[in-house]
Amino acid sequence: MTTSESAYLHCESCHQLAVHTVHYAGRLVVSTRCEACRTVVARDAGEARTEYLRDLEQRLQSKPRRLLRRALSDPKGFVTTLPTRVAAQPSKLAREWRTLLTASRTRNAEPPTRVDPR
Ligand SMILES: [Zn+2]
Repeated sequence: MTTSESAYLHCESCHQLAVHTVHYAGRLVVSTRCEACRTVVARDAGEARTEYLRDLEQRLQSKPRRLLRRALSDPKGFVTTLPTRVAAQPSKLAREWRTLLTASRTRNAEPPTRVDPR
């Protein structure tokens, strides 16, 4: 399981279609980094945290349903991987939270890299 992945995105800073590293906290995109010009675009820290907690709440509420669906589709695999998955939850959440905080710090530490003409 990973909290970042690569994607081709259009960069607003260097105006290229370039590989970006996209960082996630759960299902929420918290920051992107253009690998061509290294520009980091991060979300507002407070807004990102609020949205992450709202998303986490939804994920936890829908968990029994998701577990049931998985159990019905692959009962044997479900039983053998359940202890690992349950044990992995706290560290998974801690990792997501760290990603969120790191991205927020990056945003606050860096001066604006471009000036919006409007
Ligand atoms: Zn760029």
